[in-house]
Amino acid sequence: MIDVLPARAPESVDLDATIHRFDSAAPTLDVRDLGASRGDGVFETLGVVGGHPQAVDAHVARLVNSAALLELPEPNVAQWRRAIEVAAASLPTDRQGGIKVVLTRGVEGTNTPTGWIVATASSSDFAERETGVRVVTLDRGYASDVAARAPWLLPGAKTLSYAVNMAALREAHRRGADDVIFVSSDGFVMEAPTATVILRFGDSIVTPRTDIGILPGTSQLSVFAFAQARGLRTQEALVPVADLGSADAAWLVSSVRLAAPITAIDDVPKPIDLQLTREMNAALLARED
Ligand code: PLP
Repeated sequence: MIDVLPARAPESVDLDATIHRFDSAAPTLDVRDLGASRGDGVFETLGVVGGHPQAVDAHVARLVNSAALLELPEPNVAQWRRAIEVAAASLPTDRQGGIKVVLTRGVEGTNTPTGWIVATASSSDFAERETGVRVVTLDRGYASDVAARAPWLLPGAKTLSYAVNMAALREAHRRGADDVIFVSSDGFVMEAPTATVILRFGDSIVTPRTDIGILPGTSQLSVFAFAQARGLRTQEALVPVADLGSADAAWLVSSVRLAAPITAIDDVPKPIDLQLTREMNAALLARED
C-alpha cells in the first residue's frame, strides 16, 4: 500500500482528504522523479508493533531536519503524522512491521516534492535480537570533523542515497560478517549503515556523539531513556576505535530490528549481555509514544 501526498497543505485542510491510497504493485512513481534518478530526497523507517507506529514524534522531527538540510520544502507535520497513523492501521496487529516515509525533490523541472509511505508487515522472527550480529569495522572515508568542514556531504541527514551503506553491508557479508561499524578516517567509532552503535562500560552506556557526522538515532534515544530509568549512566562521547575492544558489551540499535547484541568485532568475540539485551528490547517494544 502506498499513500502519496503533497509535502505541504494548509493547516485548515481535512488531512484525511489529502491522503490517497495506492496499490504499491501498480505503476505509481514518475520515472523522472529526482528521488529515483538521483537519490535526491529523504526518508524515515519506523517500527510498527501491534498496529502502533513507534517514536512518531522523533521520526517526524528527524524527517523535518533532514528536509531542511537538503533545502526541501518543510513537511507538514500534522499531515505526515496522520498518514503514518493511517498506514500503520492497515497492518495486521499480530505481526511486527515497518513504515517507510519518503519525501523527494519531485519530478525534474516541476519544483513540487513527491511524498509517499509504504507499510509492510515483517516476515522476520527477529532472531538477531537474541543471537546477535557479527560486525566488521570499515573506514567511512570521512574525518570526525566532516560536519563542520564539508556540510554539503549532508552528514546527519537521512537521505535516499544509501548505495554506499548497502555496498558496505555487502563487503561485510563477503568478510563473513552480518553488519558493519563505520569508523572515521581519524579513528573514531561512527555508526552502522542502518543502525546506531551502543556500548556498555561497567554501568555506563555510551554512544558516539552525533556531531562527528552521524545520524541521531531514535532508538538510541529510547535506549538511553530506558538505561537512565534502570539507574545506568548514559553518555554521548567521542569513541576511539580501541574502545570497541574494551567495551563490556555492544549493540546495534535501529527502529525495526531494535537492539541486536554484537557477538564479534573483526572476528574478535564479544560477550553478549543477554539480560540487559532482553530488557532493552522489551522497553523498545513497549514504546507507546
Ligand atoms: N544510522 C543510520 C545511518 C541509519 O540509517 C539508521 C536507521 O536506519 C540509524 C542510525 C538508526 O536510526 P533509528 O534508531 O532512528 O532507526
